[in-house]
Amino acid sequence: MATSSTKVVELGFAEPSDSPLTADSFPSKIGGKPAWLNPVHVLSAEDVLCDICKKPMILLVQLYTPEDYPPEAFHRSIYVFCCKNGSCHKTSWRKSLKVFRSQLPKYNPYWPPPNEETNNLNYCVVCGLYGSKKCGKCNQTYYCSKEHQIVHWTSGQHKIYCNTTTSSLDDNDSLCKQLVLFPEFEIVTESEGNLDLDDGNSRALVPVGDEIYENTQVNVDKAFLKFQKKVEPFPDQVLRYARLDYEGEKNATPLWVSDIGKPMPEDIPSCPHCGQERTFEFQILSTLLNYLRVDHMQNDSLDWGSLLVYSCKDNCHVSDKNYVEEILWRQDFSDEGLNWSGFRSI
Ligand SMILES: [Zn+2]
Ligand SMILES: [Zn+2]
Ligand SMILES: [Zn+2]
Ligand SMILES: [Zn+2]
Repeated sequence: MATSSTKVVELGFAEPSDSPLTADSFPSKIGGKPAWLNPVHVLSAEDVLCDICKKPMILLVQLYTPEDYPPEAFHRSIYVFCCKNGSCHKTSWRKSLKVFRSQLPKYNPYWPPPNEETNNLNYCVVCGLYGSKKCGKCNQTYYCSKEHQIVHWTSGQHKIYCNTTTSSLDDNDSLCKQLVLFPEFEIVTESEGNLDLDDGNSRALVPVGDEIYENTQVNVDKAFLKFQKKVEPFPDQVLRYARLDYEGEKNATPLWVSDIGKPMPEDIPSCPHCGQERTFEFQILSTLLNYLRVDHMQNDSLDWGSLLVYSCKDNCHVSDKNYVEEILWRQDFSDEGLNWSGFRSI
């Protein structure tokens, strides 16, 4: 059997944050506006357009994952963007999810922040992407896109507050954010340790019917059983981070949620910038959906078994790019898994 399961995996849990998850705290978080590692070069709506509905996607998860090598990866953040519209994912999840890597060396112009205010960059007041457009009436409020200008004008009540000097815009802005963004939670990590359960004594659920099935039954999705057993001790985990120290180690493997729907080698192409392979870094579990105010009853609600992120093994530094796009793969539960998983409702 695979020995990879004895390797250390960091589990991520969603927790409400006491303090704002701002960029200077290098947060790992779910939802909210992106906290930009590089506050002067930020992604624009065009960078994260959903290829189905053509609207800007929103931040699903950002992880702060500093690396020792190369020096340019001293600070390192991964940003996962997601279209909020479940029907886009139904049409093609490949076109409604995107992942980017951003890095900075230890000595950089932004951290610690310079004394004088040099950051004149304007962010979209709604979603935090680059504000390439501004309100033509007040010339003070910036937007990434027409969509967000409209939301802010109506739901954010900018039509009332435009051109006023009132500083109490926060309430309206937060209403507006609620409509557009995923709710924000901090991601707190804990090491899974050596919690492997004895393989010979499965505590995984088996289908309950007139007869008890063995796990070896043809119809049973073995990967799902393994998955279920693995997450059972910590059912609230929303993320599994499994990047390794590379020296002599084999690449980490995801915890598959099913025997089917795994990526083929050609689905995870090498890094186009340095030629190095892309390796598995972390996975977002379906439990994260519980935190997104997703209506599961809706037929086209947002859904996945697991979202797998693969990134350049060398954390390559690309001099003219502040954001390097990496690879995301979605794996779904099989029907057998879904039918009696109950995993979502744990
Ligand atoms: Zn979309
Ligand atoms: Zn926006
Ligand atoms: Zn205005
Ligand atoms: Zn690379």
